[in-house]
Amino acid sequence: MIPRAVVASKNPDKILEIAELLEGVVGELVTDLDWDDVVEDADTLAGNAMLKAAAVFAATGLPSIGDDTGLFVEALDGRPGVHTARYAGPNATYEDNVTKMLAELSGRDDRQAEFRTAVAYVDANRELVVEGVLRGRISEVRRGTGGFGYDPIFEVEGSTLSEMGRTQKQRLSHRARAIRALRTELA
Ligand code: IMP
Repeated sequence: MIPRAVVASKNPDKILEIAELLEGVVGELVTDLDWDDVVEDADTLAGNAMLKAAAVFAATGLPSIGDDTGLFVEALDGRPGVHTARYAGPNATYEDNVTKMLAELSGRDDRQAEFRTAVAYVDANRELVVEGVLRGRISEVRRGTGGFGYDPIFEVEGSTLSEMGRTQKQRLSHRARAIRALRTELA
């Protein structure tokens, strides 16, 4: 058990999911710390996850867990990939990104996509990076109310991540798979 750690993110939706997924691995997730924004300029998810975890470890001295997620859409040759957060522009909201994705895929039948999450862990003794993948498709319209980001349009076996509810998303998501791999590495 790691007694205290920090999630290297300022996104409350992500922190909530990661905190739940880390139950039993981290005793206390410290949430009242601040740090300068990290420039995510690596060209891979793993590189960006590591930039975040390393910067926050340097700023706080606490074991740090960084997450970087990308949506890879087959019909778009893997875009938006590492640029998923800024897909509709530098200050894009969840809403803007989803609207742009539905517009780009409008009229297309080939809607296969993958969510990938890289999770990096940094403490004084080790640096680890793991990945989790979730295959699915982009739905034709938004469905459901749960989750965040692209969840209303990412469909797995007939349900969007927004429709399936938190418990099921936390069982099968890209992030859940990455954190499970991290648990194994840390054990
Ligand atoms: P980042 O990892 O914070 O850079 O996130 C990349 C983009 O993917 C952002 O637009 C997030 O809103 C979105 N995103 C990250 N994780 C998820 C998820 O679990 N479901 C849906 N969208 C996500």
